[in-house]
Amino acid sequence: MPWVITRLCADCQDVACVKVCPVDCIYGLTVDDPSYRKMLFIQPEECINCAACEPECPWGAIFEDAAVPDIFKEDTEINAQVFQAHSKEEFTTTPEPILQHPTPEQIDANYKKWGYQK
Ligand code: SF4
Ligand code: SF4
Repeated sequence: MPWVITRLCADCQDVACVKVCPVDCIYGLTVDDPSYRKMLFIQPEECINCAACEPECPWGAIFEDAAVPDIFKEDTEINAQVFQAHSKEEFTTTPEPILQHPTPEQIDANYKKWGYQK
C-alpha cells in the first residue's frame, strides 16, 4: 500500500519527508500546472511502504492510502494522476522548502483551512 501526501502539504512543503525516503519517490513538480496544488507527491508505483516519511512531516500531511481521511480521499488519486500528466523530466527529487519548522498554531490553522479535524 503506497503512502499519500495530502493537500495539508500545499504551500507548506518543508521537504523533511524527501530527506528520509530511501527510494527517492517523493517529487515536486518543476513546471506550473494550475491543476495541481503547490505541494509534493508520492509516486505510488515507486513507494515501498516503509513508513519513514510519515513521522517526519510536521504538518501531518502524509497517510497510508488506506488511512487517508475521507475529506482528502481525492488526494490519493491526485498523487497517481500527476505522474500520468507530466513526464519524469518535469519532476524533481530535490524540491525547495517553502515553510519550515511550523509552530503548533500554524499547523492548527492549516488543519482548519482544509476543514480537517484530527
Ligand atoms: S513510505 Fe517510504 S518509500 Fe513510501 S514515500 Fe514514504 S519514505 Fe518513501
Ligand atoms: S514533510 Fe509533509 S509538509 Fe513537508 S514536504 Fe513532506 S509532505 Fe509536505
